[in-house]
Amino acid sequence: MTWLISACLTGEHCRYDGGTCRIREIADLLEKGDAVTVCPEQLGGLPTPRMPSEIRNGRVYNKQGKDVTENFLRGAEAALSAARKSRCTKAVLKEGSPSCGLHTVYDGTFSGKRIEGKGIFAAMLENSGVICLNENEFMEAMKNESV
Ligand code: SF4
Repeated sequence: MTWLISACLTGEHCRYDGGTCRIREIADLLEKGDAVTVCPEQLGGLPTPRMPSEIRNGRVYNKQGKDVTENFLRGAEAALSAARKSRCTKAVLKEGSPSCGLHTVYDGTFSGKRIEGKGIFAAMLENSGVICLNENEFMEAMKNESV
């Protein structure tokens, strides 16, 4: 079974600010050859570092007000196709991201407030039947030895 993982969780410096959110136990999956990684925003042609983006009324805007929805959709489709190619059945996604957020996203006002919602890629991946966990759910499942 191959996991699909948000690349920033494995140590790739692909976050909007050029940073990473590496979690050792998640990076280990990649090192053991049990996972592939994707960064939908990079796959959509956005540079790193890049302006932060948030979802508002179903569209994605960067902090300067530019509509970047097409980049997010293109990147999500490319990431989904990578998941299919590697026959991934489970995924670990970075919570809160406008691409990868599984249960929460920022509210579109760039004020740091999170609301319930899904990132563009997370919604697409879940709809395709892949079982998705965020990083906390994965760590919890590891503790309970259910993954
Ligand atoms: Fe990480 Fe996903 Fe954002 Fe890329 S798009 S930096 S993988 S959360």
